[in-house]
Amino acid sequence: MIESINPYNLEVVEKFKELTKKQIDDALDCADKRFQSWKKVSFEEKAKLMRKASQELKENKQEYAKDISLEMGKPIKQAIAEIEKCAWVCEYYAENAEKHLAPKTIKTDAHKSYVSYEPIGVVLAVMPWNYPFWQVFRFAAPALMAGNIGVLKHASSVMKSANNIQKVFERAGFPDGCFQNLVLGSSKIEDIIRDSRIKAVTLTGSKPAGGAVASVAGEEIKKSVLELGGSNALVVFKDANIDETVKTCVQARFQNTGQSCIAGKRLLLHESLAEEFTEKFVKQVRELKSGDPLDEDTFIGTLARVNLAEDLEKQINESVEMGAEVLLGGKRSDAYLEPTVLGNVTPEMPVFLEETFGPAIGITTFKEDREAIDLVNMSRFGLGVSIFTEDLDFAESIVPEFEDGAVFVNELVKSDPRLPFGGTKISGYGRELSEDGIKEFVNKKTVYFN
Ligand code: NAP
Repeated sequence: MIESINPYNLEVVEKFKELTKKQIDDALDCADKRFQSWKKVSFEEKAKLMRKASQELKENKQEYAKDISLEMGKPIKQAIAEIEKCAWVCEYYAENAEKHLAPKTIKTDAHKSYVSYEPIGVVLAVMPWNYPFWQVFRFAAPALMAGNIGVLKHASSVMKSANNIQKVFERAGFPDGCFQNLVLGSSKIEDIIRDSRIKAVTLTGSKPAGGAVASVAGEEIKKSVLELGGSNALVVFKDANIDETVKTCVQARFQNTGQSCIAGKRLLLHESLAEEFTEKFVKQVRELKSGDPLDEDTFIGTLARVNLAEDLEKQINESVEMGAEVLLGGKRSDAYLEPTVLGNVTPEMPVFLEETFGPAIGITTFKEDREAIDLVNMSRFGLGVSIFTEDLDFAESIVPEFEDGAVFVNELVKSDPRLPFGGTKISGYGRELSEDGIKEFVNKKTVYFN
């Protein structure tokens, strides 16, 4: 049995029976058969269904959001915002998929030559619990609009949301088998990837999971996209607007109770403003309201599971033993960890070196701009970086220095259906969202007429 446990009160939300071998086989068969007809459906018809999915999300956002909050402790307001963003990505691809995938004429010595973007078949999505709807929709909306079929292996802790996502597509009127949730644990994934009915796999999650999935896909010569962890830096240069930047950095680190791959996890402050900035930052973090995730006023919920809070507490404690100073928080109770700010953080400490997946941030100061860039690039992760400065020419001049998949200036790193999203280094490869995302799982077919 797979269990969803409410991390706020540790009560079981629901239990799910894992699919049998036969049920998995039936589901893959259904998906494979559906592909034969779905790939021929017009963009207009697919867009109509995708807009209905968007409508379904908007109409029933309370219902879907509540289950997210119950299963993984996300404050309800943020869960509702997640559902609304899913509606947006559905609308975005309903509107743009045909344009993104329009054949591209290329002038050669042929009578006519072009690239045609065609669906490849059934794509497996292995997804994490931190944005249980968003991670799935940012895969599913482009995949379905491209003419592919989706099968989902969601994180075991959010199976109710996983079933709800299948329900959204069913209620929107998508034909059977277009999108199915497979209720199963990760031990079954290898066989599914090796199955000839699966043509590609996308995984959002940790490095060990990504490595395991990509190795099997590699052996089978199947395309994979990996969206893995991050340890984004928030770099505050000496001329930054302190009040605005403090506000943005608090959001960047603490929304979703810090459980976001693109959260700002390392705060790098120019020494000239470090004292004032730190004081204002700690004050705002102290004011964040912790509480019951179902309470509308709550901004900090619990972590998704007790063991995740324990892991983060360990990273904090080890960093403190190595010389970090606790400026705020640091205490844990079951799955709740107080919003924590550490000062005097150096690059050898776990809170700098490793990904911290929760409401904790370490502050490191720098003297020279070059030093800040080096500190950013020192990380093995490469999802994104936020830089804060009033000098936009300076900002533009240093953008090429960063090794990350995204640079945001005077803004937190965020995903947007219109922009490509993805990382470098151990944060993964491939892109989701935008035109780049929809083109990850298509056959870019070269056509040549002599
Ligand atoms: P996780 O433990 O890696 O799990 C992610 C998914 O992979 C789950 O469905 C999980 O299934 C499955 N899985 C775990 N081990 C596996 C294995 N050996 N083989 C195949 N599948 C496996 O990650 P998580 O704890 O759910 O999520 C947190 C991580 O995701 C963080 O590192 C975070 O930064 C990253 N993340 C990245 C992005 C991005 O866009 N780059 C976005 C969000 C999160 P079970 O639950 O059944 O184990």
